[in-house]
Amino acid sequence: VDCNSFFCSCERVFRPDLHNKPVIVLSNNDGCAVARSNEAKAVGISMGAPYFKIKNLCKQHNVHVFSSNYALYGDMSRRVMRSLSDLAPEIEIYSIDEAFISLTGFSEDNAFDHAKKIQEQILQHTGIPVSVGLGPSKVLAKAANHLAKKNNTPAKGVFSLMNTSLREKELQSFAVNDIWGIGRKSSEKLKSHNIHTADALRKSSESFIQKLLGINGKRILYELNGISCLNLETLDEAQKQIISSRSFGRPVFSLCELEESIAYHIHIAAEKLRQQELIAKSLIVFIHTSPHKNTPQYYNSAHGKLDSGTSATNKLIQTSFRLLKQIYKPTYEYKKAGVMLTDLTPKKFSQYNLFDTHDSPKDERLMQVFDLINQKEGPGSIKFAASGTKQLWKMSSKMKSPNYTTRWSELLSIPA
Ligand SMILES: [Mg+2]
Repeated sequence: VDCNSFFCSCERVFRPDLHNKPVIVLSNNDGCAVARSNEAKAVGISMGAPYFKIKNLCKQHNVHVFSSNYALYGDMSRRVMRSLSDLAPEIEIYSIDEAFISLTGFSEDNAFDHAKKIQEQILQHTGIPVSVGLGPSKVLAKAANHLAKKNNTPAKGVFSLMNTSLREKELQSFAVNDIWGIGRKSSEKLKSHNIHTADALRKSSESFIQKLLGINGKRILYELNGISCLNLETLDEAQKQIISSRSFGRPVFSLCELEESIAYHIHIAAEKLRQQELIAKSLIVFIHTSPHKNTPQYYNSAHGKLDSGTSATNKLIQTSFRLLKQIYKPTYEYKKAGVMLTDLTPKKFSQYNLFDTHDSPKDERLMQVFDLINQKEGPGSIKFAASGTKQLWKMSSKMKSPNYTTRWSELLSIPA
């Protein structure tokens, strides 16, 4: 199940006037196009096109341009996945806008009807259009989804490759570079051996493909033949790490500004940690210069242990500043900074030892109130002064839509 032009669709939910109009969403710092509606594709905007290069094209065709609004996309994604899990007990959330579900036990016809129902229900619940691809393996389901997205499919946005003879026919014109799991390098290798289609790949010799692409290539060959090798990875176990990082809006040189940004990322990551009732036992801080610039390059990270674990923002900030000082070097032009919380365990299972300093009841109450205020008044209403007040290093996003679903003050208002 894959959302159609997901970021653009999220914007359109709250801007119905933009239906059937060209829409694009730009990456961090308004760099390049990372999502395009079909209408935007049609006027010739390619994936990843730098904004400064397509600015005129956008004006010419009245393309609506948005900065990325991650708060909105994240929240809409959560809604889509929740709606989907109502109709699919086993679900693997694969990315922000894609999930695999298992329809084991359904007949071919029933599975197809169910897919239509999923599509209708998600649209009704969230306003987001999705495409559904059905197949006996993940690789074939992805291929079916690819075909479902093509225009003129008989059942708009639902396509099944369950039927063997239809599958054989479709795979004959399915390009190898469109197969899930076949990257650019692998597809070049295959093409150099005259394997251009999914059909040619599935009929190749196993040992040859394994020699050419490794065990992953062999798995894809099996999957294309309808033999499932890749299981559904339902996320029962807790998350293993939480990362927060972003590029700066402008070059950053000073320790002071790096500290602000690190404190900001701790704020974001620690909030996620507490939402999932986890504690972190280690912390990584990283900073680096821009690899795309012709300036002296520097990349470094520092790792710190957090005794028996914590989820308190204040404690994490203290440790992160100590780590940052270990790796900071003046004169470099920094482009990005971030933090990673690792070694995560559920708070209820945390093991204390006699000499550790773990979160005191006071810390816990403090963070509870802290989260409550941000929940009620909107994200960032209360924060640690360490993360700065002006945050001039933040990336620019001049065309960002309101946080319709996560901030009371930015609710959609409809003129009477
Ligand atoms: Mg998508």
